[in-house]
Amino acid sequence: MATFIVLLGPPGVGKGTQARILADAKKIAHISSGDLFRENIKNQTELGKHARSFIDKGELVPDDVTIGMIRERLSRPDCIPGAILDGFPRTPVQAVALEKMLAEFNGEVSVVPYITAPESVVVGRISGRWTCRLNGHVFHHMFNPPIKAGICDIDGSELYQRKDDEVETVTIRIRVYLEQTIPLVEYYRKSGKLIEINGAQSVEQVSKDLCAAVNI
Ligand code: AMP
Repeated sequence: MATFIVLLGPPGVGKGTQARILADAKKIAHISSGDLFRENIKNQTELGKHARSFIDKGELVPDDVTIGMIRERLSRPDCIPGAILDGFPRTPVQAVALEKMLAEFNGEVSVVPYITAPESVVVGRISGRWTCRLNGHVFHHMFNPPIKAGICDIDGSELYQRKDDEVETVTIRIRVYLEQTIPLVEYYRKSGKLIEINGAQSVEQVSKDLCAAVNI
């Protein structure tokens, strides 16, 4: 049976960075709902235009759009052995939809690492964050600066600050997280699959703890 890892944690805790490291180590696909939306926005698809109005305000994109987008992604051949899910599910309704989809694809959620950090830490990380236009690689002006300012070390594309990383929008995203995603944490805690990881450490230490938690 294919095994899927759901990464949970507040905005800015480093889920994207850790998901990439883990996907490389486990040699399985990395599915980031935020990256999929940003790709659709960049390509000016109908889905992207619709999603943008929610994303720019820091709100969640409606479930039908989000679940449909993830279903399409999960149906691609690179997900047959499993995948790391980063940013989806974000609500208990999405988690139930995920279980149904995975049952169709002969898979299940095996473990749910929950990366935590105090609000002051995540706000500081988001405000210094620079994202690459081509592939969504993430840098931080203090904790993980690019070799050349404004340029991605990995693919050479331009680095930009996400509009939803502006202070006012971050406050809304954290509120949305507390209201809509914390119930999901409790949902997975009850299922016995949740493993808490201290995200207020270096990238290397978090990824060591994460690899140990998922048995790599
Ligand atoms: P992220 O890159 O995970 O921080 O996601 C950026 C934005 O995309 C979020 O603030 C939401 O507006 C939207 N988004 C990402 N994943 C989801 C999801 N599972 N459900 C609804 N909206 C989402």
